[in-house]
Amino acid sequence: MVENYPVIKRIKEYAKENKIPIMMDDGIDFLTTFIIKNQAKNILEIGTAIGYSAIMMCLCSPNVVVTTIERDEKRYLEALKNIKELHLEDRITLIYNDALNVKLSEKYDLIFIDAAKAQSIKFFELFERNLNPEGTIITDNLSFHGLVDKKDEEIKSRNVRALVRKIRDYIDYLKNNSKYETEFFDIGDGISVSTKK
Ligand code: SAM
Repeated sequence: MVENYPVIKRIKEYAKENKIPIMMDDGIDFLTTFIIKNQAKNILEIGTAIGYSAIMMCLCSPNVVVTTIERDEKRYLEALKNIKELHLEDRITLIYNDALNVKLSEKYDLIFIDAAKAQSIKFFELFERNLNPEGTIITDNLSFHGLVDKKDEEIKSRNVRALVRKIRDYIDYLKNNSKYETEFFDIGDGISVSTKK
């Protein structure tokens, strides 16, 4: 099992110790199963953190290549180190930049959005032009630790309330987007799968 690799264990421990939000185990299982089932090969990820999900996506199939974008320098450097340690430099391209400033010309079978939750609509609209006709956009953290289903009055912090509203706006945006069929899964921290109609 890949998750038992010593390097993967160390990456997960580092994330825990340094409070870096990486995908939950069942979220990763869902994502990698989706990749295998749908034979996704060329993947774009928005939000690398320290490279954990990019690495797991690569390790689930020898055909996968990943381009991943991270704006935080420390995390980007840690991701670079982790990718090198697993000798995945040829299969993972890391871009150190704010994703909103990145323009790509390539097409991808899968776009995985896992960055600033308030900006999901912007990421979706910016990168959908890079999606293959049969492609899929997957987004993580739609439940935001269960807060999205709570009433506003139950959320004490104003900032968190504003963020939760943005996530709800994104969910509505997906539901009302007639170009895509979106399914929502109560897995990990809440995942959506949007496929072009
Ligand atoms: N996908 C990673 C994993 O599961 O291993 C976790 C990503 S973490 C939830 C989100 C990351 O997105 C953070 O490291 C944050 O710095 C980065 N991020 C947020 N907004 C971004 C943006 N506009 N451009 C690039 N990176 C961004």
